[in-house]
Amino acid sequence: MTTAILSALPEEQSGLVGSLEQARRVTHAGRAFWQGVLHGKPVVLALSGMGKVAAATTATVLVERFGVARIVFTGVAGGLGDGVRVGDVVVALDYVQHDMDVSPLFQRWHVPGYAGVRLPCDAGLSAHLSGAVSACLQSAGGQFYVNSDGRPPQLHRGLVASGDQFVTSAQVSRALRDPLVAAGHDVLAVEMEGAAVAQVCLDYGVPFAAVRTISDRADDDAHVDFPVFIQTVASRYADHIVRHLLELL
Ligand code: SAH
Repeated sequence: MTTAILSALPEEQSGLVGSLEQARRVTHAGRAFWQGVLHGKPVVLALSGMGKVAAATTATVLVERFGVARIVFTGVAGGLGDGVRVGDVVVALDYVQHDMDVSPLFQRWHVPGYAGVRLPCDAGLSAHLSGAVSACLQSAGGQFYVNSDGRPPQLHRGLVASGDQFVTSAQVSRALRDPLVAAGHDVLAVEMEGAAVAQVCLDYGVPFAAVRTISDRADDDAHVDFPVFIQTVASRYADHIVRHLLELL
């Protein structure tokens, strides 16, 4: 029962590769995959690359070539929901592709061929992931990130949006969020890969869960906040959360 741990960027993955035992690097489809044992459990570590298509290719290889039993995404995202702040952690319950629009033939955001606008994550695996995040924040939250007002990081669970766009202005962020919220889709965060992996996992019937740490607020400061967060804290979150998760599986 091999677990795939997928990240978008090398900075998010670096600590995981460092802790991998019996590590074996395999390349396929122009990507590096790290097979081995992490905290006593068989894993494959992979980089999705950036954007929906790159992520879908990686997820397909993980299922077809490596036969993984489940895929867990760990990465960063821009915060969209009220109160979703830099340093907070979002566990996705479901995904929407914010740049999919086949209206008026289909409802806006609905990927034709799937049940609805929202692409669900696996409930059981997501519950384990939430448990792992809660345990981390309780035991080591202060080591992760503390907001300027001294508020420790918080866990949010709900809808995450993906699309092929790095959202770096308050205006674009509002244009993306407001119509979703008005249609009853209360979106917490935006990133560029998760919905594609969710779609591939639905196709194959492979359980999928995703955790995203908020690196920026997808606003006019995002281009400054994102690189600082990625270089200083992102991999620490990934290491702790994945260790707690693997202990639960
Ligand atoms: N110029 C950047 C590219 C960042 S892409 C670079 O240094 O390479 C941002 C990555 O983090 C994507 O993988 C995406 O999933 C996530 N992400 C973080 N903040 C985001 C935001 N505000 N909008 C979209 N994706 C975001």
